[in-house]
Amino acid sequence: MQAVLDYLQTHHDRFVRDLCEYVRFPSVSAQPEHQNDLRACAAWLAARCRRIGLDSEVCDTPGHPVVLARTPRRAGPRRPHFLVYGHYDVQPPEPFELWKSPPFEPRLENGAVYGRGASDNKGQHLAHLNAVEAWLATGAELPCDLTFLIEGEEEVGSRSLAGFLEARRAELRCDAVVVSDTGMPAPGLPALTYALRGIAALEITLTGPNRDLHSGIFGGSVDNPAMALCQMLARLRDRRGRVNIPGFYDEVVPLSAYERRQLARLPFNEREYRRFLGVPRLFGEAGYTPWEQRSARPTVEINGLTSGYQGEGSKTIIPAWARAKLTFRLVPNQRPDRIARLVVRHLRRLTPPTVRARFTVGHGGEPYLLDPRGSRAQAALRALRTAFNRDPVLLREGGSIPIVTQFRKILGAETLLLGLALPDDNAHSPNEKFDLGNYAAGMRLGTSLWPELAAVA
Ligand SMILES: [Zn+2]
Repeated sequence: MQAVLDYLQTHHDRFVRDLCEYVRFPSVSAQPEHQNDLRACAAWLAARCRRIGLDSEVCDTPGHPVVLARTPRRAGPRRPHFLVYGHYDVQPPEPFELWKSPPFEPRLENGAVYGRGASDNKGQHLAHLNAVEAWLATGAELPCDLTFLIEGEEEVGSRSLAGFLEARRAELRCDAVVVSDTGMPAPGLPALTYALRGIAALEITLTGPNRDLHSGIFGGSVDNPAMALCQMLARLRDRRGRVNIPGFYDEVVPLSAYERRQLARLPFNEREYRRFLGVPRLFGEAGYTPWEQRSARPTVEINGLTSGYQGEGSKTIIPAWARAKLTFRLVPNQRPDRIARLVVRHLRRLTPPTVRARFTVGHGGEPYLLDPRGSRAQAALRALRTAFNRDPVLLREGGSIPIVTQFRKILGAETLLLGLALPDDNAHSPNEKFDLGNYAAGMRLGTSLWPELAAVA
């Protein structure tokens, strides 16, 4: 084991260069003009996997390809098999003007790599891959078989993944899935995330007149779709932060006293948090702490709001249409399809007769909950303690990784979420970064984790 750790240390600078090379691909899955960049990125990753001795392939899907890479299989009795999941696609980098340096020209500063995708998720799964390189290069015996499954559609809802898992189910059957795509609550403080929120996304478009109208000539006699939409949206949440949709809370599992105690152990400084986010005051559902609000309670958010003239100066019109993108973060046991139905029904009721409403239900993901006292969770906690040299905490994450539910349903495997991202890594925001200390710790985790997990498999 020491040889593996030494190897990781000796090659650290090269691993940093590799990460920079990886971040250079603008693998933005949401934007069709980047389709070839995604393909090139997948090819780069597969080649790298091959170079370190993995059997790897770029697998076509109806969308962006999946990269599969396996450690060399050994003859003899079946060994434990773990799947390492990650995604090479990234969020759109916009708005460009808020980046201190171009998002796909990675730079090193303050012990971090800056660039879109550095933390979410390229650096995190590359750390695991580097650890495997060290195992193989030093001839140390991995106590298990590993398969890396790195997809290219996570940021757009993993549209092709369920089909892919179904098609390759036999080969992907495993004892557990390991995912490093979540966060740590503070620098140096490792965490096992045992619950995730789900998500339901939808878009509403209100249409009024058949074209933009002169607001002087027609204003007053026809409704304004932008105004109507704002009035409807304003009714979706009350002033105490409760979602105001009939039936929305029916299936919410209340937080247990044990969980509330665990969450209360997490570090939190309201003043710093406020300053870090740049908000004059926090807002959240009354009766819950900020940690609970952002990880264990459901929410409604307006993600985008578009209507009328957005250019310089003024234009005096009544816009022909208005559109909003909405997402709902869900907690166990809310189901995205049911929530989307409730929301559409409610918004239809709120739509005034002066406009027409059209709905597009987007991606959905179910919330997730794992027993943190199970043997695998405990093994993962031991591995985290070794890698970070500090007692890990248990965490619920506010974000969604819908495929975790698919791993459970299709492969029958539970997922261990061992995130390496820091709260200020700026995932999905300008100036995303990945801390090099966490990169190194992630590689050490790839050293301590497999023996611990194999022992309880
Ligand atoms: Zn992301």
